[in-house]
Amino acid sequence: MKPNIKDFDLSELKELLLSSGEQRYRAEQVLRAIYIYRISSFDEIKIIPKHLRDYLTEKFKITVFRNISYQHSSDGTIKFLFHLSDGEAIESVLIPSEFVNNKKSGSRKTLCVSTQVGCTFNCAFCATGKLKFKRNLNTSEIIEQYLQAEKFIGEKITNIVFMGMGEPLLNYDNVKKAVIILLYPMFKLINSKKITISTSGFIPGIIKLADEHLPVKLALSLHATTQGLRDKLLPNCKSWKLKELFDSMEYYYRKTSTPVTYEYILFDGINDTQDDIKRLSRISKRIPSKINLIPFHTIDFTNPTGFSETLKPASGNKIHWFLRELKNKGINAFLRTSSGLDIDAACGQLALKSGLS
Ligand code: SF4
Repeated sequence: MKPNIKDFDLSELKELLLSSGEQRYRAEQVLRAIYIYRISSFDEIKIIPKHLRDYLTEKFKITVFRNISYQHSSDGTIKFLFHLSDGEAIESVLIPSEFVNNKKSGSRKTLCVSTQVGCTFNCAFCATGKLKFKRNLNTSEIIEQYLQAEKFIGEKITNIVFMGMGEPLLNYDNVKKAVIILLYPMFKLINSKKITISTSGFIPGIIKLADEHLPVKLALSLHATTQGLRDKLLPNCKSWKLKELFDSMEYYYRKTSTPVTYEYILFDGINDTQDDIKRLSRISKRIPSKINLIPFHTIDFTNPTGFSETLKPASGNKIHWFLRELKNKGINAFLRTSSGLDIDAACGQLALKSGLS
């Protein structure tokens, strides 16, 4: 099967074209045509000679998805369903303007992208975790979610969060290459520091991210302040203990000087106590950081069993009390109001519903 041209970054394409007897600068022309002019066939790149257009057509694919469908939420959120060439499917979500502390946060357009088909982590609160892990996404499949979402809305996407289906740090190389392409200054796709990688706590990936200085922000899906609860909520992350996890977040901060984010879904009667506030306060003061509180949205459509079945959303009053208490302790805390509830596009709900039922 032919490789996809969007799986190659600039230096790889330069080497490839050079080995085929072409000039290296042609690689930049080709990628400019793809990422700036958004061509859909090599024949459209009139700036390169016909023999090169024919060569590219013969050697590479340019289309990534077989089919795309969309769902609109009443709050403006759009959920995309992308059918991959091998018959698998993934989802991503465009949030037109995130709501923070119940206020619209400017003209931000955030795309939540997937990095794997299914997920190995099986977190108790997550619909994706109920799907079997199939495979990592290629770089082209990651980038194409962004290109297609922008094409659909006809406007620039300002922020990207790797927080859709899958654990991004378990697909490190392809995610890294997608980030590098998205941040190429000559394409001006996304501004530096507008990309966030959200991990469930894969420590080797956090260390690698720190050592490689990828210019992204890091968020940790924390959700628990004790080891016992975290082991229940994220059972497949048991090998990475909280202590080592916080050490790795500190390592990341020391290496990159970039403050980190802790994501914290509030579950009724599970992680919403005064003791949790005290522990969160200690955690967040260790290095410059902020805490994003996320309301839980039920994943009943996955027919959860066991511990997952017991998870219920904390009430609105409880969430606001929790937020107030954190702020009173001087914590940089925010309330994220998940969008797209009516289309199951909220955080942790991506699960190709049709495939589950
Ligand atoms: S929360 Fe993230 S890591 Fe956990 S199962 Fe869902 S997609 Fe996977």
